[in-house]
Amino acid sequence: MFSKTLAKEMNLQIMHEMYSAYLYLSMASHFEINSLKGFAHWMKVQAEEELEHAMKFYEYINDRGEKVNLEQINQPPLEFGTVEEIFKMVLEHEQEVTARINLLYDIAVRDKDFASQSFLNWFVDEQVEEEKNASEILETLKMIGDKGNTLFMFDHSLGEREKE
Ligand code: MG
Repeated sequence: MFSKTLAKEMNLQIMHEMYSAYLYLSMASHFEINSLKGFAHWMKVQAEEELEHAMKFYEYINDRGEKVNLEQINQPPLEFGTVEEIFKMVLEHEQEVTARINLLYDIAVRDKDFASQSFLNWFVDEQVEEEKNASEILETLKMIGDKGNTLFMFDHSLGEREKE
């Protein structure tokens, strides 16, 4: 059965995924005005994916016969540091999201809610990808350091990211 506790936490997860989209859009806009169009593009694709994550929870909550209860979304930061600092923030944020998914999974296991475990498996795998992507970009940025030309080339390559 779909417990009230899990329904409540999944409702909260919609807000967390929406916040992720907000955060990445704010970062995208920061990159746009700093002429890093490739980074901006990468962030916009990321934001779209987060909205899709939110919608997966929305559909699932409804499918299980519960009403969706939308929580307030916090304002994301407006000011950001260096590109490297931004991707450190992305990685830390994704690690927090992973912890949220693990918490949901933990409840589903405790409830012996096999349908929810099956639903959440997709997110467990997705978080492995999210953390991997963020940490690979972060490592590349550390290697680039303050070499502006190389950063420009990397910006160009991130501009080719396609939506999955
Ligand atoms: Mg997400």
